Amino acid sequence: MTLLSKRVQSLSPSATFAMLQKANELKAAGVDVISFSVGEPDFDTPDSIKAAACKAIEENYTKYSPTPGYPWLKKAICEKLKRENGLDYTPAQICVSTGSKQALCNTLLAVVDDGDEVLTPTPCWGSYQQMVILAGGTPVEIFGGIENDYKITAAQLEAAITPRTKALMICSPSNPTGAVYSREELSALVEVLEKHPRIVVLSDEVYEHLDYSGKFVSLGSFSQLRERLVITNGVSKAYAMTGWRLGYMAGPEAIVKACQKIQDQYTSGACSVSQKAAEAALNGPKDDLVKMREAYIRRRELVTRLLREIPGLEVNFPDGAFYSFIKCASFNGRKWTNAAGEEKVIRGGDDLVMYLLEKAHVASVGGGFFGAPDYFRISYATSDECIIEGVARIKKALAEL
Ligand code: PLP
Repeated sequence: MTLLSKRVQSLSPSATFAMLQKANELKAAGVDVISFSVGEPDFDTPDSIKAAACKAIEENYTKYSPTPGYPWLKKAICEKLKRENGLDYTPAQICVSTGSKQALCNTLLAVVDDGDEVLTPTPCWGSYQQMVILAGGTPVEIFGGIENDYKITAAQLEAAITPRTKALMICSPSNPTGAVYSREELSALVEVLEKHPRIVVLSDEVYEHLDYSGKFVSLGSFSQLRERLVITNGVSKAYAMTGWRLGYMAGPEAIVKACQKIQDQYTSGACSVSQKAAEAALNGPKDDLVKMREAYIRRRELVTRLLREIPGLEVNFPDGAFYSFIKCASFNGRKWTNAAGEEKVIRGGDDLVMYLLEKAHVASVGGGFFGAPDYFRISYATSDECIIEGVARIKKALAEL
């Protein structure tokens, strides 16, 4: 007998955190594990942002905050959208949330009915599918492989749309692939969407500042979608603020109001101190952001060069974020014996990352969570030394497989 609801039983845990836990267990046992598993900047939050938060505490920003966010933060978000993306939004079209993850969840809960289909171009962040299931919907995957730099085409989108399609979730720059859609590529997708005005489009732009190709454009710049486009974004990735839990959505007023209604009932307004920190991040100087970007750009070159030296792996050159997504199908069928003496067969990326953790003491994430079983993900948001040592360990372990 279980006391748990069918809804929660239908969810899968986050593979990233499962790997983190296993790696931490090994570390606690004294093993020197190199972690390429977690998707967060290795930098500290910039001092000017931390100072704004300390000041907020001193000034007693410690009470419940308004559910959709403080007016001064919504104003800063509107100004950011204008300044950085050329988009006109009013404060009534903004809702601040506990991370952009909540903004995505709120939106799905606001627009998806039981049995609705939600298109999730894969490889994608596995939480998308789980959020769709939580909202009662059915995730429908559209696969863009390494051959197309992990992007889907307009023809694939068209073929996946059915009368039940309610929404499309798109992420550029992407976790887990770093893929960035160009204006032309987005235009082709928008052309298809114009034929289907009932489809709500969720554009996850949380990695926008980590585009190294110069190709990033917000889907908000396609005015045809304006009435059904929700942009989600936040300060986690660009400003090294993952723990502050501060994100937001920008969209049509009716959807924003619905999200506000949902949020009101289960979390209320986002953390008041984090809102002051986010205001400082959005309005403040960008020097730290530029420095972090430069480090990611350097590491991207390094990790790609080193990974490409490993026979059997297919590695593209990611345009953004801080991930390398690697095809490893050539290792399928290989066998190894684990510490418990059991013979294991590699059947895809999920098995390969367990092999790498045990034999090379390198933590990465298998592609299953991202809807891409023959792949695995490396997060290069770590030091150059760790990248060099970690990839060398992977190379040695794979040569022994
Ligand atoms: N979207 C993508 C693609 C992500 O990878 C993440 C975090 O890993 C998020 C959204 C959520 O970010 P946050 O809730 O910290 O804003």
